[in-house]
Amino acid sequence: MPLNRLLVIDDEPEVAATVGRVARRAGFDTIVTTDAADFLDRALSWSPSVIVLDLAMPELDGLAILKALSRQGSKAHILIVSGHDRVEMEYARSFGRNLGLNIAALLQKPLRIEWLREALRIIYDAQEVISADDAQLAIQRDEFFLEYQPKVRLDTLQTIGVEALARWNHPTRGLISPDSFIPVMETAGVMTRFTPHVIEMVVTQARRWRAIGINLNIAINVSGGCVGRLPLDDIIGRHCAEQRVDPAMLTVEITETAAMGDVVQAVACMRRLNAMGVRISIDDFGTGYSSLVQLHRLPFSEIKIDRSFVHGCAVNSERGIIVKTIISLARSLSLEVVAEGIETEDSRHFLQTHGCQIGQGYLFSRPRVAHAIPDWMATLPARPADVATTLHP
Ligand code: C2E
Ligand code: MG
Ligand code: MG
Repeated sequence: MPLNRLLVIDDEPEVAATVGRVARRAGFDTIVTTDAADFLDRALSWSPSVIVLDLAMPELDGLAILKALSRQGSKAHILIVSGHDRVEMEYARSFGRNLGLNIAALLQKPLRIEWLREALRIIYDAQEVISADDAQLAIQRDEFFLEYQPKVRLDTLQTIGVEALARWNHPTRGLISPDSFIPVMETAGVMTRFTPHVIEMVVTQARRWRAIGINLNIAINVSGGCVGRLPLDDIIGRHCAEQRVDPAMLTVEITETAAMGDVVQAVACMRRLNAMGVRISIDDFGTGYSSLVQLHRLPFSEIKIDRSFVHGCAVNSERGIIVKTIISLARSLSLEVVAEGIETEDSRHFLQTHGCQIGQGYLFSRPRVAHAIPDWMATLPARPADVATTLHP
């Protein structure tokens, strides 16, 4: 998620325009809307880092919007603007926080420009707190940990693997999501230290799970910028040898393939990984940086359909068409296709009907800490097909 995107929704065009102007001056790339559906669409597909939300609009329920943002898994800093009295605004703040949203500030109407400027400055500063030095130190202090989100078969709901997702347990700021620190690390060049750290944690976890009889393929996210700059095959090979883990238990998910360093080196590295048995996946397929050209040129085994297309694919005809096209493209190239961000039974059914066999999403499980995975797997029925029947009669 880029750190300088700001999305405004306000039914009063002058207020919306003023917020937009101040935000642009403060360095934010800004989109202003007065329509709730448009707003929620952009909140998902454009991934703003800051949202300015008018709580009191005549035809829109601000609390319902907060709920929808929470369902989207929004990580944005949210500024609540409202003409309501302070008590109601405080209620909205705790309502939002209970939904897991990041409510950064309350701004009362009539809106004073200096309050808005100050709130935006605080957000900017907070983002800068995550500096490259902090990140380096945090690696040494072991402040990062991984959560694992199951990948399931869409017909039987059987778990076939997990994706490792990094979290930063910051000593003063609490839990920080990867959308806040990965882009900073990428810009600061810290990923070449962070990625080997994640690989080591993943391989260690694979060994621990194997010791208790859990043999799950684990996917590791790797930024495109690291491929071709880091000897990923050596790093994975060394950790796997030390921990006696079969590299075939691992998948590497590459994002932003356009950011790849030296493409010749990247291809060579990916081929070596393939030869070791490591699967390679193209993440967030369909978004800005993953293109058809890469599919042809690079040795991928899997495509992950970005969650912005999966969300509402059964009801939004445009997204439905995109999803179907990606599935048929993957099948004609003999690639595995995985849908991410499946939240509803309708989406699961749509994807399965159109030939996507594997998926991930809150419908099945949110990401979980490592020790919760065996318990979660134990709750799955012995005959997984029964669940699919129950879920989708
Ligand atoms: P991603 O690899 O595309 O991971 C999927 C993201 O979607 C995760 O967010 C996951 O929690 C979220 N998600 C899963 N199911 C649903 C759903 O049903 N609905 C919604 N709304 N969201 C869902 P998370 O954990 O915040 O990670 C965000 C991104 O940060 C990842 O996107 C990945 O690109 C990056 N990332 C995470 N860990 C690492 C890492 O170790 N290295 C690198 N380079 N990037 C990482
Ligand atoms: Mg991923
Ligand atoms: Mg993704």
